[in-house]
Amino acid sequence: MKNYYQILGVTQNASQEEIKKAYRKLAHKYHPDKGGDEKKFKEINEAYQILSDTEKRTQYDRFGQVFEGTEAGPGVGFDPFGRGFDFGNIWGRTGEEGVEFDLGEMFEEFFGFGGAKTKKDIKKGKDIEVNIEIPLEATLKEHEKEISLYKAIPCSRCQGFGAEPGTSVNECFSCRGTGQVQQIKRTFFGSFTRYVVCPECQGEGQKPEKLCNVCKGIGRIKGEEKIKIFIPAGVDSNQIIKVKAKGEAGKRGGKSGDLYARILIKPHPTFKRQGDNLYLKVPITFSQATLGDEIEIPTLEGNKILLKIPQGTESGKVLRISQKGISHFLGNGRGNLYVELIVKIPKKLTRKQKELLDKLKEEGI
Ligand SMILES: [Zn+2]
Ligand SMILES: [Zn+2]
Repeated sequence: MKNYYQILGVTQNASQEEIKKAYRKLAHKYHPDKGGDEKKFKEINEAYQILSDTEKRTQYDRFGQVFEGTEAGPGVGFDPFGRGFDFGNIWGRTGEEGVEFDLGEMFEEFFGFGGAKTKKDIKKGKDIEVNIEIPLEATLKEHEKEISLYKAIPCSRCQGFGAEPGTSVNECFSCRGTGQVQQIKRTFFGSFTRYVVCPECQGEGQKPEKLCNVCKGIGRIKGEEKIKIFIPAGVDSNQIIKVKAKGEAGKRGGKSGDLYARILIKPHPTFKRQGDNLYLKVPITFSQATLGDEIEIPTLEGNKILLKIPQGTESGKVLRISQKGISHFLGNGRGNLYVELIVKIPKKLTRKQKELLDKLKEEGI
């Protein structure tokens, strides 16, 4: 996982000013036009894009690198580089959300009020975080995992809009359809007028004539939703899969929050994982080590493969079996399986074994 703080050479507590300074210095140093390293330059820019944005930085601090997925619908199939899954830009397309600005927000910034929520914030559903535990062998192939969440879901009776079916929706009386009302704030310096989201219609500008019987006009209810999450091959613990719009449903037609699924991989009883490689310890006998042999060893997929022990193997020798490790994340092929051979010295011997070993001893072995 990339450490954006390390890339910029700043601490995790660095201020925005320090981040900006570090970025300028590095960007200057590595600029490709000045003969710098282009790959490094891109990395620096990526790090800066995340850390200079308070929201993205908070998300990064909490979740690390996030990669985006959409819910895997039934029979939709998966196209890693198509519409659903955007690996190239883990935070979604630049500018998609960033260029949007809100009059309310601008007022708040300008006058330093803060606190007042924008229409978008009020209606948007909350993000949800879940942990998803999978066995190590489940990282071999990409697959879908269905989870069930109890959360706010859109009300099906009113399609999330809060109006009882068959009734009309009228202009809000309080804000006359604008969705905003004036509020006067008196301060030491005088009175300021600011616009806030109309509390009567939640910024909607309109109100249902009759509220939906099921959700009482909120547009969402508590309920269970089954969500299929795409698990890429080679995924590792603490990687986050973001599933857009699968968090809590928004209020009255507002946008849903997102779902962040943190992958946790259960420890395997036989194999240890390190990156894309697997490690396995196999006990062998003294005679197998001395004479050489062919033994069966397990693989992560549950098969057995033959492994040739060379003659004269020392205890602790590690043999490499290529392509039997973990699948490369977003790449082709797999890591290696490293087998450590441990020569077992017998603690108890039968009389015959002892006789034979005595003879070997006489032979100088
Ligand atoms: Zn209103
Ligand atoms: Zn409803």
